[in-house]
Amino acid sequence: MQDPLKSPGNMLTQRKFMPKDGSLTGHELHTEAGKAGPGLKRDTLYFVPLGGLEEVGRNCMFFEYNDEIVIIDMGIQFPEEETPGVDWIIPNTSYLEKKKKNIKGIIITHAHYDHFGALPYVLEKLGNPIIYGSLLIKALLEKKLAEMPNVPKMNFIPIKNHDRVKISQNMTAEFFGVSHTVPDTTGILLETPGGKIAHFADFRLDYEADDKTFDLREFHWLRQQGVDTLLIDSTAAWKDGHSVSENVVIQNLEDLLKKAEGRIILSTFASMITRLAEVITIADRIGRKVAINGRSMKDNLEIAKTLGYLKYRPDAVIPVEEINKYPDNKLLILSTGAMGQDNAGLMRIVTGEHKIIKVKVGDTVIFSSSVIPGSERGIQTLKDNFARQGAIVYTNQELDIHSSGHAPGPDLAIVVETCKPKFVIPIHGLFFMRSANIQNFKKVGFPKENVILADNGQILEMSKEKITITSKTVDSHYVMVDGLGVGDVEAVVIRDRKLLSQEGMVVIIMSINRKDGRLIKNPDIISRGFIYLKDHTPLIEEIRGKLRTIVGQVAHGQKTDPDYLKDLVRNQVGQFLFTKTQRRPMILPVIIEI
Ligand SMILES: [Zn+2]
Ligand SMILES: [Zn+2]
Repeated sequence: MQDPLKSPGNMLTQRKFMPKDGSLTGHELHTEAGKAGPGLKRDTLYFVPLGGLEEVGRNCMFFEYNDEIVIIDMGIQFPEEETPGVDWIIPNTSYLEKKKKNIKGIIITHAHYDHFGALPYVLEKLGNPIIYGSLLIKALLEKKLAEMPNVPKMNFIPIKNHDRVKISQNMTAEFFGVSHTVPDTTGILLETPGGKIAHFADFRLDYEADDKTFDLREFHWLRQQGVDTLLIDSTAAWKDGHSVSENVVIQNLEDLLKKAEGRIILSTFASMITRLAEVITIADRIGRKVAINGRSMKDNLEIAKTLGYLKYRPDAVIPVEEINKYPDNKLLILSTGAMGQDNAGLMRIVTGEHKIIKVKVGDTVIFSSSVIPGSERGIQTLKDNFARQGAIVYTNQELDIHSSGHAPGPDLAIVVETCKPKFVIPIHGLFFMRSANIQNFKKVGFPKENVILADNGQILEMSKEKITITSKTVDSHYVMVDGLGVGDVEAVVIRDRKLLSQEGMVVIIMSINRKDGRLIKNPDIISRGFIYLKDHTPLIEEIRGKLRTIVGQVAHGQKTDPDYLKDLVRNQVGQFLFTKTQRRPMILPVIIEI
Protein backbone atom coordinates (compact mmCIF):
# COMPACT_ATOMS: atom_id res chain seq x y z
CA MET A 1 0.00 0.00 0.00
CA GLN A 2 3.07 2.22 0.22
CA ASP A 3 2.95 4.69 -2.64
CA PRO A 4 6.26 6.39 -3.40
CA LEU A 5 4.50 9.47 -4.71
CA LYS A 6 2.54 9.96 -1.55
CA SER A 7 3.86 12.21 1.13
CA PRO A 8 1.87 13.82 3.88
CA GLY A 9 0.92 17.44 4.18
CA ASN A 10 0.32 18.50 0.63
CA MET A 11 -2.94 17.91 -1.10
CA LEU A 12 -1.37 17.46 -4.48
CA THR A 13 1.15 14.88 -3.43
CA GLN A 14 -1.46 12.90 -1.56
CA ARG A 15 -2.91 11.97 -4.90
CA LYS A 16 -2.27 8.60 -6.25
CA PHE A 17 -0.95 8.65 -9.74
CA MET A 18 0.52 5.36 -10.68
CA PRO A 19 -1.59 2.36 -11.58
CA LYS A 20 -1.53 -0.13 -8.80
CA ASP A 21 -0.30 -3.58 -9.53
CA GLY A 22 -3.04 -5.87 -10.61
CA SER A 23 -5.13 -2.98 -11.88
CA LEU A 24 -7.96 -4.26 -14.02
CA THR A 25 -10.06 -2.56 -16.58
CA GLY A 26 -13.75 -3.23 -16.73
CA HIS A 27 -13.24 -5.18 -19.89
CA GLU A 28 -10.80 -7.62 -18.38
CA LEU A 29 -13.04 -8.18 -15.40
CA HIS A 30 -16.01 -8.69 -17.62
CA THR A 31 -14.40 -11.36 -19.74
CA GLU A 32 -13.04 -13.06 -16.66
CA ALA A 33 -16.38 -13.12 -14.92
CA GLY A 34 -17.37 -16.59 -13.90
CA LYS A 35 -13.83 -17.80 -13.49
CA ALA A 36 -11.75 -17.84 -10.37
CA GLY A 37 -8.32 -16.23 -10.49
CA PRO A 38 -7.67 -12.83 -11.98
CA GLY A 39 -11.31 -11.87 -12.52
CA LEU A 40 -14.29 -11.65 -10.25
CA LYS A 41 -16.02 -14.75 -8.96
CA ARG A 42 -19.68 -15.38 -9.59
CA ASP A 43 -22.21 -15.19 -6.77
CA THR A 44 -19.86 -13.05 -4.71
CA LEU A 45 -20.45 -9.53 -3.52
CA TYR A 46 -17.73 -7.02 -4.28
CA PHE A 47 -17.38 -3.57 -2.81
CA VAL A 48 -15.17 -0.94 -4.43
CA PRO A 49 -14.60 2.54 -3.02
CA LEU A 50 -13.75 4.68 -6.05
CA GLY A 51 -13.10 7.87 -4.14
CA GLY A 52 -13.38 9.57 -0.77
CA LEU A 53 -11.12 7.17 1.09
CA GLU A 54 -7.85 8.99 0.59
CA GLU A 55 -9.19 12.50 0.49
CA VAL A 56 -12.06 14.60 1.73
CA GLY A 57 -14.48 14.74 -1.18
CA ARG A 58 -14.92 12.84 -4.48
CA ASN A 59 -17.09 10.37 -2.63
CA CYS A 60 -18.09 7.41 -4.73
CA MET A 61 -18.36 3.66 -4.27
CA PHE A 62 -20.11 0.72 -5.80
CA PHE A 63 -21.29 -2.81 -5.08
CA GLU A 64 -21.09 -5.49 -7.71
CA TYR A 65 -22.76 -8.88 -7.72
CA ASN A 66 -22.73 -10.92 -10.93
CA ASP A 67 -24.14 -8.53 -13.54
CA GLU A 68 -25.61 -6.05 -11.08
CA ILE A 69 -23.87 -2.84 -10.04
CA VAL A 70 -25.24 -0.35 -7.52
CA ILE A 71 -23.38 2.92 -7.06
CA ILE A 72 -23.53 5.17 -4.02
CA ASP A 73 -22.65 8.87 -4.50
CA MET A 74 -20.78 10.60 -7.31
CA GLY A 75 -19.03 13.62 -5.80
CA ILE A 76 -16.45 16.20 -6.79
CA GLN A 77 -13.32 16.99 -4.80
CA PHE A 78 -14.38 20.50 -3.77
CA PRO A 79 -17.23 21.35 -1.47
CA GLU A 80 -18.42 24.14 -3.70
CA GLU A 81 -19.04 24.69 -7.36
CA GLU A 82 -18.26 28.36 -7.67
CA THR A 83 -14.57 28.09 -8.34
CA PRO A 84 -13.95 29.30 -11.86
CA GLY A 85 -10.68 28.26 -13.35
CA VAL A 86 -10.35 25.22 -11.19
CA ASP A 87 -10.66 21.87 -12.79
CA TRP A 88 -12.92 19.56 -10.86
CA ILE A 89 -11.55 16.29 -9.70
CA ILE A 90 -14.20 13.64 -10.19
CA PRO A 91 -14.34 9.90 -9.54
CA ASN A 92 -12.69 7.70 -12.11
CA THR A 93 -15.56 5.86 -13.74
CA SER A 94 -13.59 4.05 -16.45
CA TYR A 95 -14.30 0.64 -14.93
CA LEU A 96 -17.99 1.40 -14.59
CA GLU A 97 -18.24 2.79 -18.12
CA LYS A 98 -17.22 -0.55 -19.54
CA LYS A 99 -19.91 -2.27 -17.51
CA LYS A 100 -22.52 0.42 -17.91
CA LYS A 101 -25.26 -1.97 -18.93
CA ASN A 102 -24.92 -3.63 -15.52
CA ILE A 103 -25.47 -0.40 -13.59
CA LYS A 104 -28.85 -0.72 -11.91
CA GLY A 105 -28.86 2.59 -10.11
CA ILE A 106 -26.95 5.43 -8.48
CA ILE A 107 -28.05 6.35 -4.99
CA ILE A 108 -27.15 9.85 -3.83
CA THR A 109 -27.04 10.27 -0.06
CA HIS A 110 -27.32 14.05 0.18
CA ALA A 111 -27.20 17.39 -1.58
CA HIS A 112 -23.53 18.24 -1.03
CA TYR A 113 -21.38 18.62 -4.15
CA ASP A 114 -18.77 16.24 -2.79
CA HIS A 115 -21.48 13.58 -3.01
CA PHE A 116 -23.39 14.38 -6.19
CA GLY A 117 -21.50 17.15 -8.04
CA ALA A 118 -19.83 14.84 -10.57
CA LEU A 119 -23.07 13.33 -11.84
CA PRO A 120 -23.55 15.76 -14.77
CA TYR A 121 -20.09 14.85 -16.07
CA VAL A 122 -20.48 11.08 -15.93
CA LEU A 123 -24.19 10.48 -16.46
CA GLU A 124 -23.99 9.90 -20.17
CA LYS A 125 -20.83 7.81 -19.94
CA LEU A 126 -22.57 5.52 -17.46
CA GLY A 127 -25.51 5.00 -19.79
CA ASN A 128 -27.83 7.41 -17.98
CA PRO A 129 -28.83 5.02 -15.17
CA ILE A 130 -31.61 5.64 -12.67
CA ILE A 131 -30.67 8.07 -9.90
CA TYR A 132 -32.25 7.74 -6.45
CA GLY A 133 -32.18 10.67 -4.06
CA SER A 134 -34.11 13.43 -2.32
CA LEU A 135 -36.25 15.99 -4.13
CA LEU A 136 -33.67 18.61 -3.22
CA ILE A 137 -30.93 16.72 -5.07
CA LYS A 138 -33.27 16.30 -8.03
CA ALA A 139 -33.94 20.04 -8.22
CA LEU A 140 -30.26 20.98 -7.87
CA LEU A 141 -29.32 18.52 -10.59
CA GLU A 142 -32.05 19.73 -12.91
CA LYS A 143 -30.75 23.25 -12.52
CA LYS A 144 -27.21 22.16 -13.33
CA LEU A 145 -28.21 19.96 -16.26
CA ALA A 146 -30.27 22.77 -17.78
CA GLU A 147 -26.93 24.54 -18.34
CA MET A 148 -25.48 21.49 -20.04
CA PRO A 149 -27.56 20.94 -23.18
CA ASN A 150 -25.60 17.91 -24.36
CA VAL A 151 -26.33 15.79 -21.32
CA PRO A 152 -29.38 13.51 -21.66
CA LYS A 153 -32.47 14.03 -19.56
CA MET A 154 -31.93 12.17 -16.32
CA ASN A 155 -33.97 9.30 -14.90
CA PHE A 156 -34.52 10.40 -11.34
CA ILE A 157 -36.60 8.58 -8.76
CA PRO A 158 -37.17 10.68 -5.63
CA ILE A 159 -37.04 8.72 -2.39
CA LYS A 160 -38.18 9.33 1.17
CA ASN A 161 -37.09 7.83 4.45
CA HIS A 162 -38.13 4.21 4.90
CA ASP A 163 -38.96 3.76 1.26
CA ARG A 164 -37.87 0.28 0.26
CA VAL A 165 -36.60 0.04 -3.29
CA LYS A 166 -35.56 -3.09 -5.14
CA ILE A 167 -32.65 -1.63 -7.05
CA SER A 168 -31.73 -4.86 -8.78
CA GLN A 169 -32.61 -8.50 -8.61
CA ASN A 170 -30.30 -9.15 -5.68
CA MET A 171 -30.03 -5.77 -4.01
CA THR A 172 -32.71 -3.85 -2.13
CA ALA A 173 -32.24 -0.49 -0.45
CA GLU A 174 -34.14 0.98 2.47
CA PHE A 175 -33.50 4.61 3.30
CA PHE A 176 -33.36 6.22 6.71
CA GLY A 177 -32.84 9.71 8.05
CA VAL A 178 -29.57 11.03 9.46
CA SER A 179 -28.74 14.47 10.76
CA HIS A 180 -26.39 16.65 8.69
CA THR A 181 -26.07 20.24 7.44
CA VAL A 182 -28.28 19.82 4.40
CA PRO A 183 -31.96 18.80 4.45
CA ASP A 184 -33.02 15.21 3.75
CA THR A 185 -29.69 13.51 4.19
CA THR A 186 -30.37 9.81 3.78
CA GLY A 187 -28.64 6.77 5.11
CA ILE A 188 -28.98 3.53 3.15
CA LEU A 189 -29.49 -0.01 4.33
CA LEU A 190 -28.52 -2.12 1.36
CA GLU A 191 -29.61 -5.74 1.50
CA THR A 192 -27.26 -7.81 -0.59
CA PRO A 193 -26.26 -11.46 -0.94
CA GLY A 194 -23.09 -10.40 0.93
CA GLY A 195 -25.03 -9.17 3.95
CA LYS A 196 -26.88 -6.09 5.11
CA ILE A 197 -24.76 -3.04 4.59
CA ALA A 198 -25.54 0.28 6.23
CA HIS A 199 -24.18 3.53 4.76
CA PHE A 200 -24.61 6.62 6.96
CA ALA A 201 -24.03 9.29 4.30
CA ASP A 202 -22.43 12.22 6.15
CA PHE A 203 -23.88 12.45 9.61
CA ARG A 204 -23.63 13.68 13.15
CA LEU A 205 -25.71 12.97 16.22
CA ASP A 206 -28.66 15.23 16.70
CA TYR A 207 -28.22 16.52 20.25
CA GLU A 208 -31.06 18.19 22.04
CA ALA A 209 -30.68 21.66 23.51
CA ASP A 210 -29.51 20.17 26.82
CA ASP A 211 -26.43 18.93 24.93
CA LYS A 212 -26.74 15.49 26.48
CA THR A 213 -29.56 13.57 24.86
CA PHE A 214 -29.93 12.72 21.24
CA ASP A 215 -32.17 10.84 18.93
CA LEU A 216 -30.96 7.29 18.32
CA ARG A 217 -34.20 5.88 16.92
CA GLU A 218 -32.86 5.21 13.43
CA PHE A 219 -29.78 3.52 14.89
CA HIS A 220 -31.96 1.28 17.05
CA TRP A 221 -33.99 0.44 14.00
CA LEU A 222 -30.78 -0.57 12.23
CA ARG A 223 -29.80 -2.82 15.09
CA GLN A 224 -33.14 -4.61 14.78
CA GLN A 225 -32.49 -5.15 11.08
CA GLY A 226 -29.13 -6.73 11.89
CA VAL A 227 -26.34 -4.84 10.17
CA ASP A 228 -23.44 -6.92 8.90
CA THR A 229 -21.24 -4.12 7.64
CA LEU A 230 -21.36 -0.49 8.56
CA LEU A 231 -19.82 2.14 6.29
CA ILE A 232 -19.16 5.06 8.58
CA ASP A 233 -18.42 8.71 7.80
CA SER A 234 -14.99 9.37 9.32
CA THR A 235 -14.40 13.01 8.38
CA ALA A 236 -14.31 13.96 12.07
CA ALA A 237 -13.35 10.55 13.51
CA TRP A 238 -10.00 11.94 14.67
CA LYS A 239 -11.69 14.62 16.76
CA ASP A 240 -12.67 14.34 20.37
CA GLY A 241 -15.83 15.59 22.01
CA HIS A 242 -19.32 15.31 20.63
CA SER A 243 -21.56 16.94 18.04
CA VAL A 244 -22.91 20.30 19.06
CA SER A 245 -26.66 20.69 19.34
CA GLU A 246 -28.17 22.64 16.49
CA ASN A 247 -29.80 24.91 19.07
CA VAL A 248 -26.42 25.68 20.57
CA VAL A 249 -25.05 26.40 17.09
CA ILE A 250 -27.88 28.84 16.44
CA GLN A 251 -27.34 30.50 19.81
CA ASN A 252 -23.60 30.89 19.18
CA LEU A 253 -24.21 32.37 15.75
CA GLU A 254 -26.79 34.74 17.11
CA ASP A 255 -24.41 35.93 19.86
CA LEU A 256 -21.70 36.49 17.27
CA LEU A 257 -23.99 38.40 14.92
CA LYS A 258 -25.40 40.53 17.74
CA LYS A 259 -21.90 41.69 18.71
CA ALA A 260 -21.24 43.25 15.30
CA GLU A 261 -21.68 46.99 15.06
CA GLY A 262 -21.28 47.68 11.35
CA ARG A 263 -22.09 45.48 8.41
CA ILE A 264 -21.68 41.75 8.61
CA ILE A 265 -20.17 39.81 5.74
CA LEU A 266 -20.58 36.13 6.40
CA SER A 267 -18.94 33.63 4.12
CA THR A 268 -19.67 29.97 3.97
CA PHE A 269 -20.49 27.26 1.48
CA ALA A 270 -23.38 27.42 -0.90
CA SER A 271 -24.33 23.88 0.01
CA MET A 272 -24.67 24.58 3.75
CA ILE A 273 -28.36 25.02 3.07
CA THR A 274 -29.70 24.40 6.57
CA ARG A 275 -27.14 26.72 8.13
CA LEU A 276 -27.75 29.46 5.56
CA ALA A 277 -31.44 29.44 6.32
CA GLU A 278 -30.69 29.68 10.03
CA VAL A 279 -28.47 32.69 9.45
CA ILE A 280 -31.25 34.38 7.48
CA THR A 281 -33.73 33.71 10.30
CA ILE A 282 -31.33 35.09 12.93
CA ALA A 283 -30.61 38.16 10.81
CA ASP A 284 -34.32 38.77 10.44
CA ARG A 285 -34.77 38.43 14.20
CA ILE A 286 -32.05 40.94 15.00
CA GLY A 287 -33.26 43.38 12.36
CA ARG A 288 -30.74 42.87 9.58
CA LYS A 289 -31.59 42.46 5.90
CA VAL A 290 -29.73 39.71 4.08
CA ALA A 291 -28.14 40.17 0.66
CA ILE A 292 -26.81 37.07 -1.07
CA ASN A 293 -23.59 37.34 -3.04
CA GLY A 294 -22.84 34.31 -5.17
CA ARG A 295 -24.91 32.59 -7.77
CA SER A 296 -24.69 29.05 -6.41
CA MET A 297 -25.77 30.22 -2.98
CA LYS A 298 -28.70 32.17 -4.37
CA ASP A 299 -29.77 29.22 -6.54
CA ASN A 300 -29.52 26.69 -3.75
CA LEU A 301 -31.54 28.79 -1.34
CA GLU A 302 -34.21 29.49 -3.92
CA ILE A 303 -34.55 25.83 -4.81
CA ALA A 304 -34.67 24.73 -1.18
CA LYS A 305 -37.24 27.39 -0.40
CA THR A 306 -39.45 26.55 -3.37
CA LEU A 307 -39.47 22.90 -2.32
CA GLY A 308 -40.52 23.89 1.19
CA TYR A 309 -37.31 22.82 2.91
CA LEU A 310 -36.70 26.27 4.28
CA LYS A 311 -38.87 28.87 5.85
CA TYR A 312 -37.95 32.48 6.23
CA ARG A 313 -39.87 35.66 5.55
CA PRO A 314 -39.56 36.67 1.89
CA ASP A 315 -38.59 40.25 2.71
CA ALA A 316 -35.79 39.07 4.99
CA VAL A 317 -33.71 38.84 1.81
CA ILE A 318 -32.95 41.82 -0.43
CA PRO A 319 -31.12 41.99 -3.77
CA VAL A 320 -27.45 42.96 -3.54
CA GLU A 321 -28.25 46.05 -5.64
CA GLU A 322 -30.30 47.44 -2.76
CA ILE A 323 -27.74 47.26 0.03
CA ASN A 324 -27.02 50.96 -0.13
CA LYS A 325 -30.59 51.73 0.88
CA TYR A 326 -29.97 50.33 4.36
CA PRO A 327 -27.72 51.50 7.21
CA ASP A 328 -24.66 49.34 7.84
CA ASN A 329 -25.95 47.94 11.12
CA LYS A 330 -29.09 46.70 9.37
CA LEU A 331 -27.24 44.56 6.82
CA LEU A 332 -25.81 41.09 6.54
CA ILE A 333 -24.14 39.92 3.36
CA LEU A 334 -23.98 36.18 2.79
CA SER A 335 -21.20 35.35 0.40
CA THR A 336 -19.55 32.43 -1.33
CA GLY A 337 -15.77 32.13 -1.56
CA ALA A 338 -14.96 31.05 2.00
CA MET A 339 -12.17 28.90 0.65
CA GLY A 340 -10.34 31.89 -0.76
CA GLN A 341 -11.06 30.90 -4.35
CA ASP A 342 -10.06 33.48 -6.90
CA ASN A 343 -13.03 35.08 -8.51
CA ALA A 344 -15.60 33.76 -6.04
CA GLY A 345 -17.80 36.17 -4.06
CA LEU A 346 -15.51 37.10 -1.20
CA MET A 347 -12.41 37.59 -3.33
CA ARG A 348 -14.23 40.02 -5.58
CA ILE A 349 -15.23 42.08 -2.56
CA VAL A 350 -11.76 42.25 -1.04
CA THR A 351 -10.01 43.10 -4.31
CA GLY A 352 -12.46 45.90 -5.04
CA GLU A 353 -13.67 44.15 -8.18
CA HIS A 354 -17.20 43.78 -6.91
CA LYS A 355 -19.45 46.37 -8.53
CA ILE A 356 -21.56 47.04 -5.47
CA ILE A 357 -20.03 45.56 -2.33
CA LYS A 358 -16.81 47.28 -1.18
CA VAL A 359 -15.07 46.64 2.14
CA LYS A 360 -15.85 49.29 4.75
CA VAL A 361 -13.93 50.09 7.93
CA GLY A 362 -15.80 48.39 10.77
CA ASP A 363 -17.23 45.55 8.68
CA THR A 364 -17.37 42.26 10.54
CA VAL A 365 -16.23 39.45 8.28
CA ILE A 366 -17.04 35.93 9.42
CA PHE A 367 -15.35 32.98 7.76
CA SER A 368 -16.11 29.34 7.94
CA SER A 369 -12.94 27.49 8.87
CA SER A 370 -10.61 26.21 6.23
CA VAL A 371 -11.74 23.07 4.54
CA ILE A 372 -9.43 21.71 1.95
CA PRO A 373 -5.85 20.93 2.84
CA GLY A 374 -3.92 23.34 0.65
CA SER A 375 -6.48 26.14 0.68
CA GLU A 376 -5.28 27.52 4.04
CA ARG A 377 -2.89 30.03 2.53
CA GLY A 378 -5.48 31.50 0.21
CA ILE A 379 -7.77 31.94 3.18
CA GLN A 380 -5.06 33.58 5.28
CA THR A 381 -4.34 36.09 2.53
CA LEU A 382 -8.01 36.83 2.20
CA LYS A 383 -8.35 37.41 5.93
CA ASP A 384 -5.28 39.62 5.93
CA ASN A 385 -6.62 41.74 3.12
CA PHE A 386 -9.93 42.23 4.86
CA ALA A 387 -8.17 43.18 8.10
CA ARG A 388 -5.90 45.63 6.28
CA GLN A 389 -8.94 47.39 4.92
CA GLY A 390 -10.29 47.85 8.44
CA ALA A 391 -12.60 44.87 8.77
CA ILE A 392 -12.87 42.77 11.91
CA VAL A 393 -12.24 39.14 10.98
CA TYR A 394 -13.69 36.10 12.71
CA THR A 395 -13.44 32.42 12.02
CA ASN A 396 -16.42 30.34 12.90
CA GLN A 397 -16.33 26.57 13.23
CA GLU A 398 -20.07 26.21 13.00
CA LEU A 399 -20.07 27.40 9.43
CA ASP A 400 -17.45 24.89 8.42
CA ILE A 401 -18.90 22.23 6.21
CA HIS A 402 -16.43 19.65 7.43
CA SER A 403 -16.50 20.24 11.14
CA SER A 404 -20.10 20.89 11.97
CA GLY A 405 -21.87 18.18 10.03
CA HIS A 406 -19.76 15.19 11.01
CA ALA A 407 -19.79 13.12 14.18
CA PRO A 408 -16.49 13.12 16.12
CA GLY A 409 -14.85 9.94 17.46
CA PRO A 410 -16.80 9.42 20.70
CA ASP A 411 -20.12 9.90 18.86
CA LEU A 412 -19.09 7.37 16.23
CA ALA A 413 -18.37 4.90 19.01
CA ILE A 414 -21.88 5.42 20.41
CA VAL A 415 -23.36 4.66 17.01
CA VAL A 416 -21.29 1.51 16.54
CA GLU A 417 -22.27 0.37 20.01
CA THR A 418 -25.94 0.99 19.22
CA CYS A 419 -26.04 -0.60 15.75
CA LYS A 420 -23.83 -3.57 16.64
CA PRO A 421 -22.50 -4.31 13.17
CA LYS A 422 -20.08 -7.17 12.57
CA PHE A 423 -17.71 -5.11 10.49
CA VAL A 424 -17.03 -1.42 10.08
CA ILE A 425 -15.47 0.12 7.01
CA PRO A 426 -14.59 3.74 7.76
CA ILE A 427 -15.27 5.91 4.70
CA HIS A 428 -14.98 9.66 3.91
CA GLY A 429 -11.56 10.96 4.85
CA LEU A 430 -7.82 10.58 4.76
CA PHE A 431 -6.20 7.48 6.21
CA PHE A 432 -5.40 9.11 9.55
CA MET A 433 -9.01 10.18 9.95
CA ARG A 434 -10.35 6.73 9.17
CA SER A 435 -7.78 4.83 11.19
CA ALA A 436 -8.65 6.88 14.30
CA ASN A 437 -11.73 4.68 14.46
CA ILE A 438 -9.69 1.70 15.58
CA GLN A 439 -9.07 3.54 18.85
CA ASN A 440 -12.57 5.01 18.98
CA PHE A 441 -14.25 1.63 18.69
CA LYS A 442 -11.80 -0.18 20.97
CA LYS A 443 -13.29 1.84 23.82
CA VAL A 444 -16.66 0.21 23.22
CA GLY A 445 -15.17 -3.25 22.84
CA PHE A 446 -15.28 -3.45 19.06
CA PRO A 447 -12.47 -5.69 17.78
CA LYS A 448 -9.69 -3.98 15.89
CA GLU A 449 -9.58 -6.67 13.19
CA ASN A 450 -13.18 -5.96 12.25
CA VAL A 451 -12.39 -2.35 11.32
CA ILE A 452 -11.40 -2.50 7.68
CA LEU A 453 -9.22 0.23 6.24
CA ALA A 454 -9.32 0.11 2.46
CA ASP A 455 -7.88 2.40 -0.18
CA ASN A 456 -9.56 3.93 -3.20
CA GLY A 457 -9.79 1.45 -6.04
CA GLN A 458 -9.32 -1.68 -3.97
CA ILE A 459 -11.75 -4.52 -4.59
CA LEU A 460 -13.17 -5.97 -1.40
CA GLU A 461 -14.91 -9.29 -1.22
CA MET A 462 -17.82 -9.27 1.18
CA SER A 463 -19.90 -11.88 2.88
CA LYS A 464 -21.82 -12.00 6.14
CA GLU A 465 -18.89 -13.78 7.75
CA LYS A 466 -15.87 -12.17 6.23
CA ILE A 467 -14.53 -9.13 4.40
CA THR A 468 -11.34 -9.54 2.39
CA ILE A 469 -9.35 -6.85 0.67
CA THR A 470 -8.36 -8.64 -2.52
CA SER A 471 -5.15 -7.91 -4.38
CA LYS A 472 -7.24 -6.61 -7.29
CA THR A 473 -7.92 -2.96 -7.96
CA VAL A 474 -9.82 -0.87 -10.43
CA ASP A 475 -8.51 2.39 -11.82
CA SER A 476 -9.22 5.17 -9.34
CA HIS A 477 -6.77 7.82 -10.54
CA TYR A 478 -7.86 11.40 -10.52
CA VAL A 479 -9.97 12.56 -13.42
CA MET A 480 -10.22 16.28 -14.03
CA VAL A 481 -12.96 18.13 -15.79
CA ASP A 482 -13.00 21.80 -16.55
CA GLY A 483 -15.03 23.65 -13.98
CA LEU A 484 -15.82 26.45 -16.39
CA GLY A 485 -19.23 27.08 -17.81
CA VAL A 486 -19.57 26.52 -21.53
CA GLY A 487 -18.84 29.63 -23.54
CA ASP A 488 -17.73 31.74 -20.61
CA VAL A 489 -15.00 33.55 -22.52
CA GLU A 490 -14.00 35.99 -19.82
CA ALA A 491 -13.53 33.17 -17.39
CA VAL A 492 -11.40 31.31 -19.92
CA VAL A 493 -9.07 34.27 -20.23
CA ILE A 494 -8.76 34.60 -16.47
CA ARG A 495 -8.15 30.90 -16.13
CA ASP A 496 -5.42 31.01 -18.75
CA ARG A 497 -3.69 33.92 -17.09
CA LYS A 498 -3.79 32.21 -13.76
CA LEU A 499 -2.41 29.06 -15.24
CA LEU A 500 0.41 30.94 -16.93
CA SER A 501 1.35 32.90 -13.85
CA GLN A 502 1.26 29.96 -11.48
CA GLU A 503 2.18 26.96 -13.54
CA GLY A 504 4.05 28.29 -16.56
CA MET A 505 3.77 26.93 -20.06
CA VAL A 506 5.14 24.27 -22.33
CA VAL A 507 5.25 24.76 -26.09
CA ILE A 508 5.37 21.63 -28.19
CA ILE A 509 6.33 21.99 -31.84
CA MET A 510 5.68 19.02 -34.07
CA SER A 511 6.44 18.76 -37.76
CA ILE A 512 4.11 16.31 -39.41
CA ASN A 513 4.24 14.82 -42.86
CA ARG A 514 1.11 16.04 -44.62
CA LYS A 515 0.76 12.82 -46.59
CA ASP A 516 1.07 10.06 -44.03
CA GLY A 517 0.66 11.97 -40.78
CA ARG A 518 4.03 10.78 -39.42
CA LEU A 519 6.40 12.87 -37.35
CA ILE A 520 9.18 14.27 -39.54
CA LYS A 521 11.63 14.95 -36.76
CA ASN A 522 11.86 14.82 -33.01
CA PRO A 523 9.35 17.32 -31.56
CA ASP A 524 10.78 20.51 -30.03
CA ILE A 525 9.79 21.21 -26.47
CA ILE A 526 10.19 24.67 -24.96
CA SER A 527 9.11 25.66 -21.48
CA ARG A 528 8.73 28.98 -19.67
CA GLY A 529 7.98 29.38 -15.99
CA PHE A 530 7.54 25.64 -15.60
CA ILE A 531 10.54 23.50 -14.65
CA TYR A 532 13.94 24.07 -16.21
CA LEU A 533 13.78 21.39 -18.86
CA LYS A 534 17.52 21.27 -19.56
CA ASP A 535 17.91 19.81 -16.07
CA HIS A 536 15.26 17.22 -16.81
CA THR A 537 16.45 15.45 -19.95
CA PRO A 538 14.71 12.16 -19.09
CA LEU A 539 11.43 14.04 -18.76
CA ILE A 540 11.87 15.60 -22.22
CA GLU A 541 12.49 12.17 -23.64
CA GLU A 542 9.41 10.84 -21.94
CA ILE A 543 7.32 13.67 -23.38
CA ARG A 544 8.73 12.92 -26.82
CA GLY A 545 7.88 9.24 -26.40
CA LYS A 546 4.37 10.23 -25.39
CA LEU A 547 4.07 12.44 -28.48
CA ARG A 548 5.20 9.61 -30.76
CA THR A 549 2.55 7.36 -29.22
CA ILE A 550 -0.12 10.01 -29.72
CA VAL A 551 0.82 10.55 -33.35
CA GLY A 552 0.95 6.79 -33.85
CA GLN A 553 -2.55 6.46 -32.45
CA VAL A 554 -4.21 8.95 -34.75
CA ALA A 555 -2.34 8.57 -37.98
CA HIS A 556 -2.56 5.41 -39.97
CA GLY A 557 -1.56 6.78 -43.30
CA GLN A 558 -4.53 9.08 -43.51
CA LYS A 559 -4.62 12.85 -43.23
CA THR A 560 -4.59 14.10 -39.66
CA ASP A 561 -6.93 16.71 -38.30
CA PRO A 562 -4.52 19.18 -36.66
CA ASP A 563 -7.12 20.42 -34.15
CA TYR A 564 -7.86 16.91 -33.00
CA LEU A 565 -4.17 16.20 -32.67
CA LYS A 566 -3.66 19.40 -30.67
CA ASP A 567 -6.42 18.39 -28.28
CA LEU A 568 -4.88 14.99 -27.78
CA VAL A 569 -1.46 16.48 -27.13
CA ARG A 570 -2.85 19.06 -24.74
CA ASN A 571 -4.80 16.49 -22.73
CA GLN A 572 -2.36 13.65 -22.67
CA VAL A 573 0.84 15.64 -22.15
CA GLY A 574 -1.00 17.78 -19.59
CA GLN A 575 -2.08 14.72 -17.67
CA PHE A 576 1.39 13.21 -17.97
CA LEU A 577 3.17 16.32 -16.68
CA PHE A 578 0.74 16.60 -13.85
CA THR A 579 1.43 13.01 -12.89
CA LYS A 580 5.14 13.64 -12.95
CA THR A 581 5.35 17.08 -11.39
CA GLN A 582 1.99 17.80 -9.72
CA ARG A 583 1.86 20.95 -11.82
CA ARG A 584 -0.39 21.88 -14.65
CA PRO A 585 1.45 24.12 -17.09
CA MET A 586 -0.42 25.46 -20.05
CA ILE A 587 0.34 23.22 -23.01
CA LEU A 588 0.60 24.98 -26.36
CA PRO A 589 0.87 22.50 -29.23
CA VAL A 590 2.07 23.89 -32.54
CA ILE A 591 1.64 21.58 -35.51
CA ILE A 592 3.51 22.25 -38.72
CA GLU A 593 2.36 20.23 -41.68
CA ILE A 594 5.03 19.79 -44.30
ZN1 LIG B 1 -19.18 14.83 2.49
ZN1 LIG C 1 -22.08 16.39 3.49
